[in-house]
Amino acid sequence: MAQIIRIYRTCDVSDCGRDAAEHVLALGKTRRSIDLCQAHADELNKTVQPYLSIGRPAPRARKASKPDVFVNPRAVRAWAKEHGVPCPEIGTPPLAVKVPYLRWWCDQRQVG
Ligand SMILES: [Zn+2]
Repeated sequence: MAQIIRIYRTCDVSDCGRDAAEHVLALGKTRRSIDLCQAHADELNKTVQPYLSIGRPAPRARKASKPDVFVNPRAVRAWAKEHGVPCPEIGTPPLAVKVPYLRWWCDQRQVG
């Protein structure tokens, strides 16, 4: 049985709620991922553009050794089973399962 998992993003700016895309911001040692709608992404680009235009190209940041998130495999498997998401019974659950699980987990925390 094949299943398609879609992740719908909404703008992280409070009270916006429009469809959004993920953007990654980096300044100094701070790196953040944020979901922005087109209007807020345009606003952000407009704000940083004067600084980007006078900056020099910077060397690429070093790649993190392991760009992964640790989640309890048992919790992920239990969630997958409950939501009908195919997940291997052994080993580390794949990102295709962990990501929707984490989205769900974050949503639960916002509601409660
Ligand atoms: Zn927005």
